[in-house]
Amino acid sequence: MINKINAIRGMNDLLPSDSAVWLSLERTIFDLFTSYGFKNIRTPVVEKTDTFHRAIGKATDIVEKEMYTWADSNGDLLSLRPENTAGVVRCMIEHNLPREGIQKVFYQGAMFRHERPQKGRYRQFHQIGAEVFGADNAKIDAELIAITHSLWQKIGLKNVQLEINTLGSAEARANYRKVLVKYFTEHKNQLDGDSIRRLSTNPLRILDSKNEGLQALIESAPKLMSHLDAESAQHFDEFKAYLDCLDIPYIINTRLVRGLDYYNRTVFEWTTTDLGAQGTICAGGRYDGLVEQMGGKNCPAVGFALGLERLTLLIQAQGLSIGERKKSIYMVALGYEAQRKSMQIAKQLHQALPQVILYNDIGMGSFKSQFKKANKVDADFAIILGEEEINNNQVAIKPLKGQGEQKNMNLEEAIHYFKG
Ligand code: ATP
Ligand code: MG
Repeated sequence: MINKINAIRGMNDLLPSDSAVWLSLERTIFDLFTSYGFKNIRTPVVEKTDTFHRAIGKATDIVEKEMYTWADSNGDLLSLRPENTAGVVRCMIEHNLPREGIQKVFYQGAMFRHERPQKGRYRQFHQIGAEVFGADNAKIDAELIAITHSLWQKIGLKNVQLEINTLGSAEARANYRKVLVKYFTEHKNQLDGDSIRRLSTNPLRILDSKNEGLQALIESAPKLMSHLDAESAQHFDEFKAYLDCLDIPYIINTRLVRGLDYYNRTVFEWTTTDLGAQGTICAGGRYDGLVEQMGGKNCPAVGFALGLERLTLLIQAQGLSIGERKKSIYMVALGYEAQRKSMQIAKQLHQALPQVILYNDIGMGSFKSQFKKANKVDADFAIILGEEEINNNQVAIKPLKGQGEQKNMNLEEAIHYFKG
């Protein structure tokens, strides 16, 4: 026997039995973005490695450890996208889109990071995200929060918490960096290897450490909040005031620094305690310097990404049912004449009843075996086409869930019956 080939570790198949939640979730989110005036954007899954180096920063976990990178046959270094902000910014600059005014875009798709696979953490995972270019006021930061908040309400999600912080201006961060390096250097003997390395490459990331033994030290570290520039402090106050007027509760987490270098001012995460260690379902922030840093004209920007795997895990964990159940019909037909007729009728029914799920039998077995299949797909009704129905130019409709008698009628009446 020939050996079978399995999928790559950490890269999952979405099976038909699990896909309904995904489809419904994606539709809900796309409709929501559209209703807020966002347009869809699609960029390639592969970009030049430089795109990610410049955007995400070389001293980050993603670039240091998690990227899938290879040399093309002509020697160019290419990478699978580990996130999509870098690609969207590259695209904005390449097509000069911010010149046309404020750009509100959303994307969806697979991202790739070479991490240790575990619940809620995979090597191929899917994000839906939004980015806004050309607006620097906190109103748009708050609108992004309002969108995500109304998404949680739409799907009935519970136990999600908004954490916010501000990273200030690049200058304020540079000053704070010195204060932080001084503090951690004084306590160097308590740091772990990762943190000692970050002390010289990316000291703010030490605040993000998950090492239990470091928590007390991090807790007592100086806060960026007390080294903020006046404009960023005001921006943060405005952001909070918008959230207050929207009645969206939040907590200020001064340790929230995010794992990518491009952020400034507003950063936020939606977290839950229902998913164990992988508790962040959605994260984002402002990145006013990135467009210029990638070779474009100075352009403020803000965005977020949500992890669909984690969101679906949370929906499951909370036992939420997503998406309405649609009426379904199974078409049973016996004999070649009836099979052809069923094809014609199915085509007409699909046109007249786009909301209904219509299965046209393809097992070609006996009536009994066709009804078995109808039960297997949990159909609500059967439409039966036998010799008698064909001769009378009618169909027989049989409710399969116990409600009512089998009835014969013509196609127009049948359409009316199912519309009701
Ligand atoms: P974490 O701290 O959990 O590693 P992150 O800061 O690396 O998250 P982001 O880059 O901000 O994550 O990505 C946004 C969202 O994408 C996360 O909040 C999460 O929901 C999801 N996500 C990130 N990495 C993975 C992964 N490896 N597998 C599944 N989902 C992920
Ligand atoms: Mg990560």
